[in-house]
Amino acid sequence: MRFLPVFLDLQNGVVLLVGAGDLVRAKLRLLAQAGARVRWFATDGNYEVGGLENAEAARIEQAAGDPLTADLSNVVAVLCAGAGDVGVAMSARAKAIGLPVNVMDDLVHSTFIFPAIVDRGDVVVAIGTGGTSPVVARRVREQIEALLPARIGDLASFIGTWRKSINGRIAEFPLRRRFWERVVDGPIGALVLAGRRSEAEAALDDIADPAGFAGANPLGKPEGWVTLVGAGPGDPDLLTVKALRALQDADVVFYDELVSAEILDRIRRDASRVPVGRRVGKPGIGQDNINRLLIDAAKAGQRVVRLKGGDPLVFGRGGEEIDALRQAGVGCSVVPGITAGLGAASQFEVPLTYRREALRVTFLTAHKASDAEKVDWSELTDEKMTVVVYMGMTAAPAIREGLLAAGRAPQTPVGVFARVTRPDAQAAVGRLDDLPELVGQVDGGPAILIIGDVVAHSAPWRQAGLDDRFYLDDVISNLLEAAE
Ligand code: SAH
Repeated sequence: MRFLPVFLDLQNGVVLLVGAGDLVRAKLRLLAQAGARVRWFATDGNYEVGGLENAEAARIEQAAGDPLTADLSNVVAVLCAGAGDVGVAMSARAKAIGLPVNVMDDLVHSTFIFPAIVDRGDVVVAIGTGGTSPVVARRVREQIEALLPARIGDLASFIGTWRKSINGRIAEFPLRRRFWERVVDGPIGALVLAGRRSEAEAALDDIADPAGFAGANPLGKPEGWVTLVGAGPGDPDLLTVKALRALQDADVVFYDELVSAEILDRIRRDASRVPVGRRVGKPGIGQDNINRLLIDAAKAGQRVVRLKGGDPLVFGRGGEEIDALRQAGVGCSVVPGITAGLGAASQFEVPLTYRREALRVTFLTAHKASDAEKVDWSELTDEKMTVVVYMGMTAAPAIREGLLAAGRAPQTPVGVFARVTRPDAQAAVGRLDDLPELVGQVDGGPAILIIGDVVAHSAPWRQAGLDDRFYLDDVISNLLEAAE
């Protein structure tokens, strides 16, 4: 991030604008709408703007003379059409005295740039790409325009008029925030967004005890709440909308070591973040202690998020946490996430089921060699079953032994998929017989193993050009299907 987004008050001071042409006129209109006073040096002498209201037009001063010697004493920003000689010299002048300067389409001579803007009254969204791509910024703007309710600006100004009086009646800051969240997310916010502001005013006026109103959770209980949230396998874009909302609403987030930094970035900035996972060389604080932390935080009235890699209820001990919370009388809910096996399947194009070839999927864990020994491999020999193994890297030799001894074919395709959906994801594909060597081919975990004929349909298999036996099978099954 080279440019920090800030919102500049243009009511006090003058913006110095140098140049001519359509781009300059567009900026002039934008500045006038923002209430700026503009001193305009039209380099072609044409001061025609058009499309401005009288008050806006009145704030535009037609400047005469040489901008390079113009007085800069009450100027708050400088804007130039292009980096001709004048632009370069103006930029140098402004920089010398620390004035923000923008030379259009010229990052070298600019110290600020204009974002793409979504303007809904008091709610303004600025979108920047560091000057790299206005087209990308515009696409983002379109998406945000589509997301935001039309009257979101009205909602902000509604709150603006009440904030002082209500905040004066709620002492604790977290309760204040919760009060306004309940207003925004509840019926009062809905009334404003529906254009029924006077009803919203009346409803807010009716709240006799703002602190009490803020303290009740969505189910009307005075205590906090725990949301178990699945963070998915790593790519933050794979978070669900609900997960994102939970991260944005949380007071405290207890997270596992598997949760990627990009996802932690999505947590509300003021929320506390507590790592509770195992980390390299350290055993972690233990499940009982985690349960205790969740319960204590919830009982203290906080909104707690328990953030886990993948899905909370797939080898994530979410079930135990739900039991513990229930026993402690703490309310909870679960937001699912994309489990690593599904992340691997989609990223590497492994169809977990495939017409006649794969009719079943089994998710299992083989944490340690001793656990692997406990697996009943005879249940996993059906060649129409795809087997997805979590925590299976160290147990890979035992998995191979177990499956082969039970009778699964040594040439069964297998894949090792590491750090799936992250920028450094890796895959190694081959045969069940070679599983331990394949595990050695990826540079560390976490990794998921997928065992079954479907791996031969995967992208890495095609790229490795391993063989086309399975494509022949395809041809045959197509012919059979056509014959039926
Ligand atoms: N609840 C998680 C699983 C936790 S168990 C889920 O639903 O995905 C931890 C195991 O998950 C790891 O040992 C590994 O096998 C797998 N795993 C988690 N994240 C992964 C990733 N990004 N890539 C590959 N495997 C992953």
